[in-house]
Amino acid sequence: MQVAISKDGIKSVAWKTEKNEGPFTCPGCTGEVILKKGKIKEHHYAHRPPYNCPYGAGETQIHYRCKREIYEALLAHPKCSDCDIEKQLSGVRPDVYAVISSARVAIEVQKTTINLNDIERRSARYQMLGIYVLWLVAHDSPNLTWHAGEEEWTCRPKEWEKYLHSMYFGRVYYWAGGLSVTPYHFDKFQTWVNESEWYDEDGEYRQEGGYYRDARALKRPIKCPSNSIDIAQDFLPRKRRVFSSKNWSVPECNIWMDNLDPWWSKK
Ligand SMILES: [Zn+2]
Repeated sequence: MQVAISKDGIKSVAWKTEKNEGPFTCPGCTGEVILKKGKIKEHHYAHRPPYNCPYGAGETQIHYRCKREIYEALLAHPKCSDCDIEKQLSGVRPDVYAVISSARVAIEVQKTTINLNDIERRSARYQMLGIYVLWLVAHDSPNLTWHAGEEEWTCRPKEWEKYLHSMYFGRVYYWAGGLSVTPYHFDKFQTWVNESEWYDEDGEYRQEGGYYRDARALKRPIKCPSNSIDIAQDFLPRKRRVFSSKNWSVPECNIWMDNLDPWWSKK
């Protein structure tokens, strides 16, 4: 967590707070937390063990850095107001919150421990509160692997990446520093099935392959051509209707989405 309550009862952001303002308590469980101010690592608070509280669970250094940079950039941005970090709202607590060009926006930085139910529940909650949500991944790209056969980059999106891809009409946002994000579309990836021929046990001639087929788990990542776009400048509030596929359903929600035309569709 990057926010705690100081001894004066004030919400204190880790990198703007000194140790003598403590002791500090967790906004979730009110247990004691320790302010960690290293030279290299991101400043944050950690529960004093033993503890049993989910507040701040699963946050990593890159996650802390992403939240801090976005929060600081929005705080200084002329189009933004009411900027807050780990803001306690009714039933949900966005990593960063701000009013951007009069739209209320919640930014959720994806943790590796999240599950689809959690994304769905929080997105539905934001919809009830009239807040537009931006789900971000704290890495700069999907996990890419080189496919030697087709000589192309591929990726194998996780379930939550596919879910966010559905939610944002065919794109996932990867964080590129400050307010910059790089959207990726996951396109179909086709692999060549080698031609083979043989005689089966009845002596019948058999032949197979010699065509392309869609790979099941592998996708072709298509990066947005403008490379990176700005959360405050290039995004708009948008309504998402209920969407169901055979694997999941995305609830009706308010999303904070880029204003680009689909860059992957061939005209
Ligand atoms: Zn706690």
